[in-house]
Amino acid sequence: MIRDAHTIPPDARAVLTIDLSALRANWRALNVASGKAECAGVIKADAYGLGIDEIAHALAAEGCCTFFVATLTEARIVRMANPGARIFVLDGLLPGAAPSYTGFDLCPCLSSLEEVREWAAWCDATGRRLRAAIHLDTGMHRLGLSRADVEQLAGPERALFAKFDLALVMSHLACADVPGHPMNAAQLARFQALRAMLPPAPASLANSGGVFLGPDFHFDLVRPGIALYGGRALEGHPNPMRWVVRLQARILQIRHVAAGESIGYGATFQAGRDSRVATLACGYADGFLRALSSPTGHPGPVGHIGEQPVPVVGRVSMDLITVDVTDVPEREACRGAWVEVLGARTTIDDLTDRAGTIGYELLTRLGRRVHRIYAEGTT
Ligand SMILES: *Cc1c(COP(=O)(O)O)cnc(C)c1O
Repeated sequence: MIRDAHTIPPDARAVLTIDLSALRANWRALNVASGKAECAGVIKADAYGLGIDEIAHALAAEGCCTFFVATLTEARIVRMANPGARIFVLDGLLPGAAPSYTGFDLCPCLSSLEEVREWAAWCDATGRRLRAAIHLDTGMHRLGLSRADVEQLAGPERALFAKFDLALVMSHLACADVPGHPMNAAQLARFQALRAMLPPAPASLANSGGVFLGPDFHFDLVRPGIALYGGRALEGHPNPMRWVVRLQARILQIRHVAAGESIGYGATFQAGRDSRVATLACGYADGFLRALSSPTGHPGPVGHIGEQPVPVVGRVSMDLITVDVTDVPEREACRGAWVEVLGARTTIDDLTDRAGTIGYELLTRLGRRVHRIYAEGTT
């Protein structure tokens, strides 16, 4: 792992710089915004594509003690490097997998009556009151116990609670990114009602967006993911987080394209003037989404050489992007020079708005083929 932002090997064609100091600043800001609630870190899907080991390490160094992952495999990776961390597995309990959780001291987020029963039986078998969370469904209808399940647990099967340690009662918001959405208040009310039927335990409802919905949503623990990585938590509001990722690609070649000639697959872009076009060593296989293509008449996303904007022209292909560098001096837009295609100037939000997707998808797709640098401050 390279920690020096300036050590770029000569064979690197595209570089993803992950600013760990910005990540930590985002965690601190979310920790402050969530008041007295504990601020956990959601690091599922390889920490939203940015590297689960490095991200978990950086967050733990800042004081984050609780992590949420999606899978058992992710949980094991985090456990190896963080013996003291509290690790919740959002997948819940896979059938027959209870021993794996115990072996790595993991907390399943139990999402159905069957899972609760299986965990309680496992506790009986081991003679230990093992920790687990209970995931309530308050309206997403994806994972979690329904109201009827909770009634069953609170009534006829109440004895199950004596068998395990209820570490957390949680639910997940469907529309936290839209502050005025009626689902938020509805889910909050359902969460409070269901929680009141269960034995007392710490509670958690908020993801990144939920942190900004106000103290009613914070409970004892908040679970931000995307905002840690600089993505937008609320739609239609300025994004207060620091940017964490920068993607740069090297210029492989400069082409002169006469007015009227086309560029790239499908010949969808015709040069409107005599142009210089730089071909960059980065394509959709590296995570620069094909939906960011720019046929004639559609302004493309803008990369930068230094401060100078260089718009994408033509289709994004698997390994390559073409950008218009006609207005940049030849000594700067030359073979081997670096073009920033994602960063402080063209943000995750800018690109995903254009591509019709969300920051979560863009980040998790940034490819393994991109050389990664974990840096402490990049500006
Ligand atoms: C992914 C996830 C989060 C984090 O959501 P963000 O919107 O990225 O902050 C929190 N809780 C659950 C249950 C999740 O699946």
